[in-house]
Amino acid sequence: LDTLATVDPEISQAIDNELNRQRNKLELIASENIVSKAVMEAQGSVLTNKYAEGYPGKRYYGGCECVDVVEELAIARAKELFGAGYANVQPHSGAQANMAVFFALLQPGDTVMGMNLTDGGHLTHGSPVNMSGKYFNIVPYGVGEDTQKIDYDALEKQAEECKPKLIVVGASAYARTIDFARTSEIAKKVGAYLMVDMAHIAGLVAAGLHPSPVPYADVVTTTTHKTLRGPRGGLILTRDAEFGKQFNKAIFPGIQGGPLMHVIAAKAVAFKEALSPEFKAYQEQIVKNAKVLAQTLIEKGFDIVSGGTDNHLMLVDLRSKNLTGKVAEKLLDDIGITANKNTIPFEPLSPFVTSGIRLGSPALTTRGFKEEDMKQVASIIAMVLDHPEDEKVHAQARELVAKLCTKYPLY
Ligand code: PLP
Repeated sequence: LDTLATVDPEISQAIDNELNRQRNKLELIASENIVSKAVMEAQGSVLTNKYAEGYPGKRYYGGCECVDVVEELAIARAKELFGAGYANVQPHSGAQANMAVFFALLQPGDTVMGMNLTDGGHLTHGSPVNMSGKYFNIVPYGVGEDTQKIDYDALEKQAEECKPKLIVVGASAYARTIDFARTSEIAKKVGAYLMVDMAHIAGLVAAGLHPSPVPYADVVTTTTHKTLRGPRGGLILTRDAEFGKQFNKAIFPGIQGGPLMHVIAAKAVAFKEALSPEFKAYQEQIVKNAKVLAQTLIEKGFDIVSGGTDNHLMLVDLRSKNLTGKVAEKLLDDIGITANKNTIPFEPLSPFVTSGIRLGSPALTTRGFKEEDMKQVASIIAMVLDHPEDEKVHAQARELVAKLCTKYPLY
C-alpha cells in the first residue's frame, strides 16, 4: 500500500491541511486560482518520469514519442488561444520566461525600461535584487501621481532620453487596462524591442476582455497559473514565428534543462479549457466580481488606487484607515480571508509593512461567487478593518466567511 499517507504521513498531512485551508478560507490573492481536477490529474501523472531535453521531434533522449504529442498539443493550443505564430510552453515559471527573453535579446549592461515595483511592476522587470536589475541598466517608469495610471507621456519622454534596447510592459499590481498600441508606438520610435508580460491578465486576454498584446509586442510572456487557471508555469509567445525561434534556444539550452512534461501536459489541458465558451463566461464574471468588490469598498469609505479597476484586481490604499498592509493582511487572515500586503504608488513605508493590500477575484469566481457574494465579502472586509480591535466583530466575520465557504464547496 504505497499511498502517500503510508509512505510519508507528514507530507500527506500537510497536503490535507492545505486542502482544508483552501476549502475554509476565502482566497483573494490576485495571482492565485483553483485549477480543475483534470489539470491536477495531468500534473500528477507518469510524465514526471520523463526526460525530454530539446523540442518535439528533436530530443536529446529516446522514448519521447508520447511526450512529443503532449508538447505539440500544448503549443498548438497556446497559439490558437492567443492568436500567436510561435509558442514555447517549456518555461518552468513566469520568471524563467522573462529571463529567457532577456537572455535572447540583450547583452549584460544594455538599457531596459520596466515598471517600478512600487507602482505595480514585477521583480523580474528590473528590481535591483533580481537578475534583471543586477545585469542590466534599468530605467524604471511608473504611474502619474495624480491619476495613479501609467503615464505614457512620461514613459515616451524617458524612452527618448535613455534609448532602451527593451521596454517591458505588464504588471503584478496594476488595475487598469494597458495601452499596448501606445507602448508599441513608443518602442518603435526609439528602436526598442517591446516585451509584454501579461501574467496577471492572460485569462482576460484569452477571453477578449483585455486588448491582446500579441499584435503589438515583439514578444509576450505570461504565467499559466493566474487568471489563465492552469498549472504553475510560464509561456512565451510571439506573433512572428521566425522571430520566436530564438527563444527556444534561450530556454533550452540557455537557461533550463529538461522540460517538466507533466506540467506541460497540465498547461495543454488548461489551454483546452480556456478555449471553451464557459471560460469566456468565467472571465466575464471575474471582471464583474472585481468591479463590485471595488465599488462596495469605495461605498464603505475605502480608497482604491486609481479609483477602481478594469481587470481582476485592485489595490486598497489603507492610509485613510490608519492601517498598514501588514496589519490588514493579518487581521483578514485571522477571520479567514487570504490577501497580501502590497506597496501602493509612491509608497511611504517599507515593502515589509506597506500602505496597501491587493485583492483579486479569480479564485472566488472559480468557486462560483457572483456579484451579491462579492458585496458580502466587501462588507466582511470593511467590518474587520473598521474594527481592528473588536473581537466580537471578528467572531461575526468568521461566521460569515464560514457560511460563504459552505455555500461554495471546493473540490
Ligand atoms: N510576471 C508577473 C507580471 C507576475 O506577476 C509574476 C508573478 O507574480 C511573474 C512574472 C513571475 O511568475 P513566477 O512566480 O511563475 O516566476
